[in-house]
Amino acid sequence: MRVIENKYLPPAGYGAIMLFGVIFVRTGVKLSPRTIRHEEIHKRQMIEMLVLFFYLWYGIEWLIRLIQYRNRKEAYRNISFEREAYANDELTPYDRTVFAWTKYLKNND
Ligand SMILES: [Zn+2]
Repeated sequence: MRVIENKYLPPAGYGAIMLFGVIFVRTGVKLSPRTIRHEEIHKRQMIEMLVLFFYLWYGIEWLIRLIQYRNRKEAYRNISFEREAYANDELTPYDRTVFAWTKYLKNND
């Protein structure tokens, strides 16, 4: 995946962000293999959601999680797309099935 170093993305406190198949990192930040795998999972989620619906769902679920957890970071961490990515970004290879993120919709805590 293409990586673009820049001064603005991602927001402070986040390691990397994948937008439309490109990874953005702050200038000088070294990407770990785990982060690259994490962003690759997001890329597959994005493609199966036809790009637009990935970002739409991501935003809507973040708002729902924000109401649920009343904490921005916790809300982010519990978006189904993030739950799937964090749970599997250490697996090489991650034998992923299509729409695997839907298994992470349900709360397990
Ligand atoms: Zn993520």
